[in-house]
Amino acid sequence: MEMMGKPEEIIALIEGYTPTDADKALITKAYDFSKRAHEGQLRASGDPYFIHVIATAKNLARYSMDATTIAAGLLHDTIEDGKATEQEIKNEFGEDIFFLVEGVTKLGKVKYRGRERHAESLRKFFVAMAADFRVLIIKLADRLHNLQTLEFVRPEKQRRIALESIEIYAPLAHRLGIGKLKGELEDAAFPFAFTKEYAEIETFLNEKKGISEQNIAVVKSSLERELNRQHIPIVKMSYRIKHKYSLWKKLQRYKHDPDKIYDIMALRVSVPTIEDCYRALGLVHMFWRPVPD
Ligand code: MN
Repeated sequence: MEMMGKPEEIIALIEGYTPTDADKALITKAYDFSKRAHEGQLRASGDPYFIHVIATAKNLARYSMDATTIAAGLLHDTIEDGKATEQEIKNEFGEDIFFLVEGVTKLGKVKYRGRERHAESLRKFFVAMAADFRVLIIKLADRLHNLQTLEFVRPEKQRRIALESIEIYAPLAHRLGIGKLKGELEDAAFPFAFTKEYAEIETFLNEKKGISEQNIAVVKSSLERELNRQHIPIVKMSYRIKHKYSLWKKLQRYKHDPDKIYDIMALRVSVPTIEDCYRALGLVHMFWRPVPD
C-alpha cells in the first residue's frame, strides 16, 4: 500500500503539462529505486531520509521541470548518502540521469564560508561546475527542503547553510528567472542567517494592520466585480504578499521609515489591450486614492 500512491503524488504535479506514459514510468522507477537505496536511513529530524528525496522531487515538479530532471531529483542522494553505486545508476537510468546525479553530488562539495567578497566568484564557479542548468535546479530544490528542515541541524552549521543560501543559491535562482524560488530560499534561510532582524520583521508585520492573504483576496474579488460591471476583460489577476527577506532589504534602504513601503501587498491585473489597461486604471483610481509620484 505504502509503495502505491506516492509516485502518483509527484506525477499529479506535472499533469498540467501532460506527462507521457514513459515519463510516469521513469518517475515511478526512480521513486522505487531511491526508496530502496535510502531504506533504514534517517534525517537529522528523525524522519525517514526518503522524505527529503520526495520533497526535492516535488519542488522540481512545482517548478515545471521534466521527468528526467524529477527522476534525477529522486536519485540525487542515492550515491552520496544512500546504498546505490554509480554503476547501478548508469545501468538502470542511463548516462544522462547519471550525469545529473553526479553533478549534484559534486556541487554539494562547494562550500561558502561567509566572506562577502567571494560570493560572486563562488557563484560563477558554481554555475561553471554545474555544467547543465538542470543540475543547478536540482541543487536549489534540494537546498530549499534542507532549509525547511534546518531547525534540526546544529547551530554553527545552520548559520553557514543559511548564509550560503542567501549569498549563493538565491541569486542563482534569480538569474535562472525563478523569482518565486528565490523568495522561498531567502525566507527559509532568513531566521537562521539574521535571527534578530527576522524577529524585527515579524513584529513589524504584526503591528501593521490589515496585511493578510484574506484582506487582499477581498480586494481582488471586489475589483474583479467592478471590472466585470464595466465590461473590462480580465486576462489574469494575481496577488502576493512581499517575502519577508525582501521586505527587510527594502526597509534597510528606506532607513526606519516603513511608511515609505507601499508594496507589502500587491495585486496584479492583466487585461488584453492598452485601452483596457487605462480603463482598468481609471476604475482602480475611483476606489483607491492614488499616491502622488
Ligand atoms: Mn539532498
